[in-house]
Amino acid sequence: MAHDEQDPRRAVPRTDLVLADPRLQRAGSALGPRLIKQAVRTAQDRARAGMIAPSEVTDVAVGLLPSAATSIQPVLNATGIVLHTNLGRARLSTAALQAIERAGGATDVEFDLDTGRRARRGRGALAALRAAVPAAGAVAVVNNGAAALLLAVTALAAGREVVISRGELVEIGDGFRLHELITSTGARLREVGSTNRTKLSDYADAIGPDTGCIVKVHPSNFSICGFTSSVAVDDLAGLGVPVVADIGSGLLAADPLLADEPDADSMLRSGAAVVTASGDKLLGGPQAGLLLGEAEIIERLRRHPMARAVRVDKLTLAALEATVSGPATPTWHSLHVEPEALRARTEAVAAAVADVLGASVVPSDGAVGGGSAPGLSLPGWALALPAPYAHRLRTGQPPVVGRVEDGRCLLDLRCVPAECDPLIIDAINNAARQEAR
Ligand SMILES: *Cc1c(COP(=O)(O)O)cnc(C)c1O
Repeated sequence: MAHDEQDPRRAVPRTDLVLADPRLQRAGSALGPRLIKQAVRTAQDRARAGMIAPSEVTDVAVGLLPSAATSIQPVLNATGIVLHTNLGRARLSTAALQAIERAGGATDVEFDLDTGRRARRGRGALAALRAAVPAAGAVAVVNNGAAALLLAVTALAAGREVVISRGELVEIGDGFRLHELITSTGARLREVGSTNRTKLSDYADAIGPDTGCIVKVHPSNFSICGFTSSVAVDDLAGLGVPVVADIGSGLLAADPLLADEPDADSMLRSGAAVVTASGDKLLGGPQAGLLLGEAEIIERLRRHPMARAVRVDKLTLAALEATVSGPATPTWHSLHVEPEALRARTEAVAAAVADVLGASVVPSDGAVGGGSAPGLSLPGWALALPAPYAHRLRTGQPPVVGRVEDGRCLLDLRCVPAECDPLIIDAINNAARQEAR
């Protein structure tokens, strides 16, 4: 062929000529010049290496264009784990997504349109949280749950002592330990009790003039049973020092399905001075840290210099308000879906992929995940496929992430929006064709 005999560098079309292609021009408004040039350069490199013909460079460059200017890919969570940390925890509601879109440009997040002056940042989200948690005298929002605890401990106990039970020295994930977060503020740990048993007198004996606060951590990602005891917030609240209760999950009010998960309202009624929680766990909202509690203490936290370093952005405030004020979240639906409804959807998918060898509908328990409610399983159903499907489905478009268990790939529809079931069917059929090849 002619192009093999020429110097390939001369045969490869020049960048400006490729860029003139109307398809690449059109993509410019969504992707910008950098990503488009990158695709062109990759195609040119392939031509220089002899992998494609010079005449194919433009078409290949078009094929290489990314579908968006972000490399983060939406995936279908078919793991049955509602708050999957590696998949970004809570899936936002449509209301929250719309709120983010509204807040993307210039907004009145910290501005009073009537007076033309500065206003309380995110006051709508704060008011929504206060309305949802009547026992809270005031509310503040920071970047995440860890930042909420950091701010509370810094403001109440930096340079002083934090009294905490040895049964509550928790590692939350990826090697991060809450007691190391506490000491990073300059507070000293005063550990009391033992791994399995801590009594009220252990706390009482440890409290002195140097005590900044008691921290009570909900052991959200493990459970301990047998010869155990711990002290409830009601009792700790009588000891005369502020109790910071880290509930983790972000449940604002009690949920009978999650009987062992503490909620913010109950904790404050029990006498906690401050409750800290995450926005993207059981609350089902964006990543955020909630601080709810006595008005005077919350105001102190808000005025602390560190508050500025953990300030939350306008997109989060918008999504958080829509999560609290708007309709039930995808997280709530995934937790409360009827097993029979899951069975019907799973059987419909199975019927649509009946040609796939070894596909069957099996009982399968989902889980809350995200370090919440570790012992709780959520009864449901899954489509079992041969194990090699797991990788093919993950690398398809859109990626479908299942669970590999006992040498099978399980697809659990609990966290898949029902309107996406056809995408799951297509993905399985595509994966089956890969097998046939
Ligand atoms: C998840 C969790 C945290 C950390 O919250 P992030 O929002 O992930 O920073 C802290 N404490 C407890 C008890 C948790 O469960």
